[in-house]
Amino acid sequence: MRHLISTKNLSNQEVLDIFKDAKDFLDKKPRTLLEGKSITTIFFENSTRTLSSFESAARRLGARVLRLDVARSSSSKGETLYDTAANLDAMSPNAIIIRHSHSGAPQILSHHIHCPLINAGDGKHAHPTQALLDLFTIYEHFKGEIKGKKITIIGDIKSSRVANSNIDLLTRFGLEITLVAPPHFMPNSNLNYTYDIKKAIEKADIIMSLRTQVERHEKIVYASLKDYANDFCINSSLINDKKVILLHPGPVNRNIDISDEVMNDPRNLVLKQVEHGVAIRMAVLKKFILEN
Ligand code: ASP
Repeated sequence: MRHLISTKNLSNQEVLDIFKDAKDFLDKKPRTLLEGKSITTIFFENSTRTLSSFESAARRLGARVLRLDVARSSSSKGETLYDTAANLDAMSPNAIIIRHSHSGAPQILSHHIHCPLINAGDGKHAHPTQALLDLFTIYEHFKGEIKGKKITIIGDIKSSRVANSNIDLLTRFGLEITLVAPPHFMPNSNLNYTYDIKKAIEKADIIMSLRTQVERHEKIVYASLKDYANDFCINSSLINDKKVILLHPGPVNRNIDISDEVMNDPRNLVLKQVEHGVAIRMAVLKKFILEN
């Protein structure tokens, strides 16, 4: 049984096959590919986009969706994660989509269930479908010519599962990554990095801005988000008339990650990412349910 725990579970060819299906699914037409299938979503951490994106994707393919409401589930009565999963599994879903605040939780659970498990984000570890939709957005924008494109990733890289998954995928597809962050948000890595945002943006074809992961910080390592914004918020004077595209996985902290003005700039593809997210998740569900 194959699971999607991280981008490393997919070969480059499989990623391209997912993009091909996602491109077809951009027509937004309902399909019957997963008619009669049942998909369970269980999110132990908040989500605006990812949960609704997966559920829309499942329904657009004709599947039924069972959403486990964690607040009302027995997890809040002390049931272990393993027992919750074993009980869900006993209902024989065709896939389980899980988000958890602990890195590694989906990997552990995948050994105890009998259907594909799709990781919708685990702690600081991985968010594979986010990275797929980010790369797909870049791929579509540059009409497949992505090798050698320069991407600057800005923000709380150290605590970001989105950055982690993107670093794996973007590197494999030949993009040149530069990391930009204050020292306390910079991970140990052998990638190019700088603390000088202006310099990094000058060379970039793509900017990926990230939210500060306050919920994952054990202690406060910076003075205030306002100080962070003074140096790292993407505003008009930083990008002026530069030919560049801007990505952000959401939720955007306005005027901290990206200024109001740049939120309305046509180079900002945040809503395009959301649109692409549904198509990518349709392609992922199709692959992991029908090809498993
Ligand atoms: N929505 C993304 C995630 O779940 C990014 C974020 O929350 O900042 O990781």
